[in-house]
Amino acid sequence: MDKDTIAAISTPLGEGAIAIVRLSGEEAIGFANGIFQGKDLATVDSHTIHYGKIVDPSSEQVVEEVMVSVMRGPKTFTREDVVEINCHGGLASVNRLLELALQMGARLAEPGEFTKRAFLNGRIDLSQAEAVMDLIRAKTDKAMDVAIKQLDGKLSKLIQRLRQELIETVAHVEVNIDYPEYDDVEEMSHHMMLEKTEQVHVEIERLLQMAKQGKILREGISTAIIGRPNVGKSSLMNALVHENKAIVTDVPGTTRDVIEEYVNVRGVPLRLVDTAGIRDTEDIVEKIGVERSRQVLKEADLILLVLNNNEEITKEDEQLFTLVQDLEFIVLVNKTDLPQKLDLDKVKALAGEHPVVSTALIEEQGIDQLEQAIANTFFAGEIEANDLTYVSNVRHIQLLKQSLIALEDAMQGMRDGMPIDLVQIDVTRTWQLLGEIVGDTVQDSLIDQLFSQFCLGK
Ligand code: GDP
Ligand code: ZN
Repeated sequence: MDKDTIAAISTPLGEGAIAIVRLSGEEAIGFANGIFQGKDLATVDSHTIHYGKIVDPSSEQVVEEVMVSVMRGPKTFTREDVVEINCHGGLASVNRLLELALQMGARLAEPGEFTKRAFLNGRIDLSQAEAVMDLIRAKTDKAMDVAIKQLDGKLSKLIQRLRQELIETVAHVEVNIDYPEYDDVEEMSHHMMLEKTEQVHVEIERLLQMAKQGKILREGISTAIIGRPNVGKSSLMNALVHENKAIVTDVPGTTRDVIEEYVNVRGVPLRLVDTAGIRDTEDIVEKIGVERSRQVLKEADLILLVLNNNEEITKEDEQLFTLVQDLEFIVLVNKTDLPQKLDLDKVKALAGEHPVVSTALIEEQGIDQLEQAIANTFFAGEIEANDLTYVSNVRHIQLLKQSLIALEDAMQGMRDGMPIDLVQIDVTRTWQLLGEIVGDTVQDSLIDQLFSQFCLGK
């Protein structure tokens, strides 16, 4: 365990009226005391807050009026002594406070180091630590809910229960191997193990199914708008962005020829991707070819296929339907303010089970219905963040998939009549993989890498 005391600004820079400098470690209270004029922080009760002044010990100059919270371990986020100095947020004064704390002997915290300490000191498990990270990045309220649930340890509890079930079967088998003189042990073990592994298998599959929704909440529904030139694709993009507050407009790492907008549609984050290359149908089919455009579209979670109500359906339109078959799509019949020339029955036949929504984007008509259709498509009307355990973390999903494979190996082995102690190896492996989700069996380097992704001060 690190013994030194760390410090960082733990509120976003330049935002909010109050800024917090946080210290954690054995000497957190001592260091704070050295620059604090007011009550003696060494003698105050734990979890109390005190008004006073921060004074530069070298010049005796008053730097700031502050409120200082003193929280003694182990009932703190890091389980160490924690001091939070609250001040009025000006960038210069916060930096000055941090500087003074460092002068007293604190070390500047690495990104994510507070959370890392919480993990290493057993305050939270790894999936909870990752939830903190998700919380910081959450783009909508729903995504925030999911992260909070995970922080709450819901996923951890479920995973631990599954691990328990697996380890019990393994223990059972061990006993049988040690005492082979009992009758029917081999058969009993087989039976019990098959039952348990099937049970766990069902639960992991369910988690993975819900991971899709988790990914959507976390990263947004990646949405592509396609259609022939002039049908209203740009109008649709604008309508969605204007109706809803754009969440993020500049996405790091993307070039300007990919336009990405995040919008919040009924709590569902939509990531509108308007790639220059697939903006118009001519581009889609003629420039990059049917195969590649199909590939591009496959990466989208949702496709909005726009048609013109004022024109008869064209071969190109039909080609687009072929392109998106097997994908999640919604058809927009736009320009319903103009006389209908489109054969709606034919459109519905082409759309099959997929929703068809009429819009007159120029008059801002039909956007509500479109948004409802989107919500229905992904969350059967409403997002249930309450009772479900969403897995929204790529690393967790990866591990769940690997566990599922190991478990399937075990099940296959049993069906093939493999000796139970060999089957047990795969069951143990599943147990280990699940353990990596909650951090029981992860390596240090992975932990370092994970925590370095955090914002500073968290
Ligand atoms: P895109 O080429 O598919 O991106 O189409 P645009 O969004 O640029 O729209 C093409 C033209 O159709 C523009 O002049 C729009 O104003 C017009 N337009 C878009 N939506 C509607 C609509 O609902 N009704 C009518 N009458 N015109 C529309
Ligand atoms: Zn356009």
